[in-house]
Amino acid sequence: MQASCLHTHTDFCDGKGDVESFCQAAYEKGLSALGFSAHAPLTKKTGLKTDWHLADEKLDEYIDAVKAARSRWTGKLPVYLGLEVDYIKGLTSPADKDFQSLGLDYIIGSVHYIFPPKGGEPFTVDAPAEEFERDVQRHFSGNGEAVADAYWDAVEGMISAGGFDILGHLDLIRKNNPHNEYFATQGSRYRSRIRQIAPLAAGSGAVIEVNTGGLIRGKTADPYPSLELLRLLRERQAPVTITADAHEPSHLGGHYDLARETLLQAGYTETVEFEGKGQNWKIVAIRY
Ligand SMILES: [Zn+2]
Ligand SMILES: [Zn+2]
Repeated sequence: MQASCLHTHTDFCDGKGDVESFCQAAYEKGLSALGFSAHAPLTKKTGLKTDWHLADEKLDEYIDAVKAARSRWTGKLPVYLGLEVDYIKGLTSPADKDFQSLGLDYIIGSVHYIFPPKGGEPFTVDAPAEEFERDVQRHFSGNGEAVADAYWDAVEGMISAGGFDILGHLDLIRKNNPHNEYFATQGSRYRSRIRQIAPLAAGSGAVIEVNTGGLIRGKTADPYPSLELLRLLRERQAPVTITADAHEPSHLGGHYDLARETLLQAGYTETVEFEGKGQNWKIVAIRY
């Protein structure tokens, strides 16, 4: 079974382990390819201070390190250079020229941040549970359904701006909602949002990642996107690739069997595998 991971964070951002240790682990696990996707720098552009993005001044070093690994591993493991770029309306986007001109192999477009309805600094829905709860109370008066709407608004904004090759953890908003604490994933409001998103995502031309990062961290019982959203994406023939959102070498390939099982349940019979910038993605039958 051919499997890769294009969603990987090293100690250049918030992962543990250097580029080489991820390459070594990917090779030992028999992955067909490994792509690096550091959280793209955003402080200079947005003024936001975070401890999980690549520092602006480290961008060149990161690019050089991945390119050097690509040379070292030639013939043994295809290594690709990417970034996971945040979409924060009006502040930063995968479509921005500075990212497009870096010569990356690919860009993962991700929404982590949403704006408070009354304005002010955006906050991340990817935060630890207590921090998320505090933000929902503070900025949305505890209205979790409105938080989910703000998230899907941001995803729609990112899709219409474009500039990404892969749509990252499409329903990340579920991370802090494993037991419907904030919004009802089976409710009509949420379901109508994912029914709206599916054709937009499928029409974006990007590959949808089936991301096992929530499973690896014990945050979700299933991959992103959910089975229901995957079914909607399948109906529209949206291509998918499995990733681990790996933050340490041991995460690589984690829960891929469950991801495949979920894809089969959703009606998918194949995934796609990256073969390099400008190349067609390779179609691979799912065997479970
Ligand atoms: Zn992410
Ligand atoms: Zn990530």
